[in-house]
Amino acid sequence: MARINSPMDVFKLTDGSNCRACNEKTCMAFGVAVFKGRKNLDQCPKIAPEVLAQYQDATDRPDTIDEFMQQAVEELQEQIPDIDMAEAARRTAGEFDGQKLTLRVMGKAFSVDRAGSLSADIHINAWVAMPFLNHVLHCRGEALTGEWITFRELKGGPERYNHFQQNCEKPLKHLADTYTDLFSDMLDVFAGRRVQTHIDSDISVVLHPLPLLPVMCCYWEPEEGMGSSLHLFFDKSADQQLDAESIYTLLAGMVKMFEKIAARNQSGPS
Ligand code: SF4
Repeated sequence: MARINSPMDVFKLTDGSNCRACNEKTCMAFGVAVFKGRKNLDQCPKIAPEVLAQYQDATDRPDTIDEFMQQAVEELQEQIPDIDMAEAARRTAGEFDGQKLTLRVMGKAFSVDRAGSLSADIHINAWVAMPFLNHVLHCRGEALTGEWITFRELKGGPERYNHFQQNCEKPLKHLADTYTDLFSDMLDVFAGRRVQTHIDSDISVVLHPLPLLPVMCCYWEPEEGMGSSLHLFFDKSADQQLDAESIYTLLAGMVKMFEKIAARNQSGPS
């Protein structure tokens, strides 16, 4: 049986006429819809029955979270050629050199060019690339307020708070408890800034996963029978810069990055 491995495989089966009989604007959009499982191949009347028969159950959809994320990144990359990059640079506090837009992600250069191709001074993982692209496409460019709030207070935060706790705050607290260089890495490697706040934490570090998305990490050391705790805070404007789902994804990606660094450093030279 023939296989469908990409939207282009579907597109090639259509006649390319963009006739809209399938209720999609273009044959390529139909290809994406079939690939993602929103449409069936037989909704294009231009594909002959004998061809349809060859492709029954042929869609190769992503079956892991990382494959799904990678596919989402590719779909966002396809939208980049349609935006005004200079205007996007203004909205995101980035730099546009005429070819590519560069933002500082945790202090490191992270760029997208006019064609949607990504390049960076850090490893490009889909957990960071997806929110980066969403930010470039949709950020409103609001000014920072200087007021810190919890994830739960963000628009869309309460619905995702369980995931945020499980995949962001909890593993980061575990790292802070077990990897003693975590906060010096944040300061020295990722351009973090130690701050004093009204929150009475033992350590408070502000990081910039995106220029307009500062995150304050506050850690309370264990004492007198009480366990440690760690909480992340966001500028009150955060949900105007990025949707809560993308903020969660970005922070989960950041935590994965710290976990990798800790594992590498803790294993030490053999
Ligand atoms: S019905 Fe078929 S040919 Fe017409 S736009 Fe959709 S995919 Fe293209």
